[in-house]
Amino acid sequence: MRWARIRTPDGYEGYAWVHEGRVGPVKGSPFDEYEREELRWDLEEVRLLPPVLPRKIIGVGRNYPAHAAEHGAEVPAVPLIFLKPPTAVIGPEEPIRLPPQSRQVEHEAELAVVIGRRGRWISVDEALKYIWGYTLGNDVTARDLQRRDPQWTRAKGFDTFAPLGPWVDTDFDPAQATVLCRVNGEVRQMGNTQEMVFSVAQLIAFVSSVMTLEPGDVILTGTPAGVSPLHPGDVVEVEIEGLGVLRNPVVADRPQAR
Ligand code: ZN
Repeated sequence: MRWARIRTPDGYEGYAWVHEGRVGPVKGSPFDEYEREELRWDLEEVRLLPPVLPRKIIGVGRNYPAHAAEHGAEVPAVPLIFLKPPTAVIGPEEPIRLPPQSRQVEHEAELAVVIGRRGRWISVDEALKYIWGYTLGNDVTARDLQRRDPQWTRAKGFDTFAPLGPWVDTDFDPAQATVLCRVNGEVRQMGNTQEMVFSVAQLIAFVSSVMTLEPGDVILTGTPAGVSPLHPGDVVEVEIEGLGVLRNPVVADRPQAR
């Protein structure tokens, strides 16, 4: 099943299910009891919101050897994890805002795992039972600030630096999926999830040995080689074979109270 969160012209806002280009409301919660209603709208008629509002987003650095190599870095012996704030989340078609503090903001196309059950010290063998589903993520990164700061909070944490969507697919098999990033239609990143140094199950086990994972939490599983700078006016698309396409335009940001 594909879960989305939507806003419709006739005033519905909330969970929905997506099937063959049609969308219907869902009553209840994906983490508890729920009931699907009839498919009521065409996908084109509704606004897709971020499919999940995570309380925390865990990023994983250098999980594809070719990406580590393009930065002259070694593959880590244990997963290299960092946090992105929930305020960085945006949905499909929402603009990525390039902050004035950086001159080199880059895309990172990633498979995003969404947690469905609370857990701590989850074993590798049990890990897949804790997954709600998968979506696409763009781990947008201010590369110049990442090089300058020993901690990555600033480089990874700006508002709009965590596009997620378009939906959470509960049946997707991530074992051998092509991960792509296109900018203005041109392929910049291409890899396959089978290149990942640490598997989804190993990442869940590792992260949950540090912090409790909760329903809705997102783990961004790392990016393949080919990261490159974004510029105002660009359109960036993350695509994972069999899962979907996450598309966001890019604009310049200005200091402004919101
Ligand atoms: Zn990343």
